[in-house]
Amino acid sequence: MNEEKMTELALEYGFSCAKVAAVSELVFDPELRVYCEENTCGNYGRNYACPPDCGSQAEMKARTDKYSRALVLQTVQPVESVMDSAQTKTARKAHNLLSREFMDFLEKEGVVGLRVMAGPCSYCEQCARIKDEPCRFPDKLASCLSAYCIDAGAMAETCGMPYWCGNEEVPFFSIYFFGEV
Ligand code: SF4
Repeated sequence: MNEEKMTELALEYGFSCAKVAAVSELVFDPELRVYCEENTCGNYGRNYACPPDCGSQAEMKARTDKYSRALVLQTVQPVESVMDSAQTKTARKAHNLLSREFMDFLEKEGVVGLRVMAGPCSYCEQCARIKDEPCRFPDKLASCLSAYCIDAGAMAETCGMPYWCGNEEVPFFSIYFFGEV
């Protein structure tokens, strides 16, 4: 499937924006790992797709280095307030569900790649990491942009996508890495 078709289909699926960038255009900033360690999201050490279980920043970067292209997917969804965490959580869930469906479709079409989602892996209702049990679906595990230390603001600018949409719209990003190096 060519890249133009890929972005066209992503928009048909319901994404607000879709763009393919070169992986070399993305900014990987190891310093961003400190935000995971501060654990404001509460998932540090509680989700196999998040630090420290997901691996070091260098190990995460090595995973993306196997690919040359990045399909950046964005939804922008209405909320009463971006400060309402219940609403933004629901919007993030919808974004990740749409991303998963579209990435499943790409894989069925033979596009081999790496999934990067918004927020911690949410494939299970509650991650098995919390009870110190093994990951239930290792082939479905997907880490977020933060775990990869990807600068989302810089990525949005590169892709010509909005990063801040005001108090009543919340943007989320996911990425599908693909293409030979
Ligand atoms: S697949 Fe389930 S157990 Fe594995 S990381 Fe994701 S949420 Fe956790």
